[in-house]
Amino acid sequence: MSKQGFTIDLTSKCIVVTGGNRGIGLAFTRAVAQAGATVAVIYRSSKDAVEVTEKVGKEFGVKAKAYQCDVSDTNAVNDTFKKIDEEMGPIAGVIANAGVSVVKPALDMSYDDYKYVYDVNVFGVFNTARAAAKLWKERNHGGSIIITSSMSSQIINKTSETSPLTQVFYNSSKAAVSNLCKGLAAEWAPYNIRVNAISPGYVLTDQTAHMDKNIREHQAKNLPLGRFAEPHEMAGQALLLLSEYSTYMTGGEYFIDGAVENSQ
Ligand code: NDP
Repeated sequence: MSKQGFTIDLTSKCIVVTGGNRGIGLAFTRAVAQAGATVAVIYRSSKDAVEVTEKVGKEFGVKAKAYQCDVSDTNAVNDTFKKIDEEMGPIAGVIANAGVSVVKPALDMSYDDYKYVYDVNVFGVFNTARAAAKLWKERNHGGSIIITSSMSSQIINKTSETSPLTQVFYNSSKAAVSNLCKGLAAEWAPYNIRVNAISPGYVLTDQTAHMDKNIREHQAKNLPLGRFAEPHEMAGQALLLLSEYSTYMTGGEYFIDGAVENSQ
């Protein structure tokens, strides 16, 4: 630690952020760029992802490039990681952040609805983590993987004030990746690959913008902090987990939820 204080320096380290073009992912992209990292953003289909990423690069004076790739496509993820590693790498850290939700009563869910949620939130995270781990194991070099899970890994948060409507597949997909995180951390510890999860509470992004305004206000009022989080409030933990200050942190799930209660 320098005498000037505690700083996290990721200069020239290549960090991959899936879903790094908007919402919480964009906050991660901005934070790692500000810490000096080279950033590779993976996005699905947003038309402005390339422009958004280049803008972050210019703002912080680092290399930043967006790559289109559907994280649920195993071969595409492996190919994209190889490409990023060649063009921007070597990859030093990964934030498997891309996630989706379908809000519908469980009785009305179709096979396609829950397949979609699991394909992105569970298999997409696994594809991303494994693509990085393969590269690192081949070169006998460790790395840090962060999974964006959710407070929903532990609680059943209602999406309506009056009805019991929840997001059963979203919630259970997050429970799955939180468990996956612990399993991968144990399995890959011998390779010096660390795996941790960040579990946000309610954060102001496109995902929560779709909630009914009254429900959003009701939920915010019931939170101990009385408000939803801003995306940048998730970023400090990610910087720590990517840094040299977290070398004994693995298999952890870090809740950044403003002390949300089980009754949410
Ligand atoms: P947003 O809906 O704002 O953004 C989702 C991001 O994921 C976009 O960048 C999107 O790319 C990308 N994405 C979605 N599907 C794919 C795919 N198949 N392949 C590649 N990229 C994909 O989400 P948030 O920022 O709100 O959420 C980020 C993460 O945080 C998610 O895992 C979410 O579950 C989790 N989370 C969010 C909370 C919240 O309150 N917002 C609370 C707790 C957890 P594109 O722009 O191209 O579509």
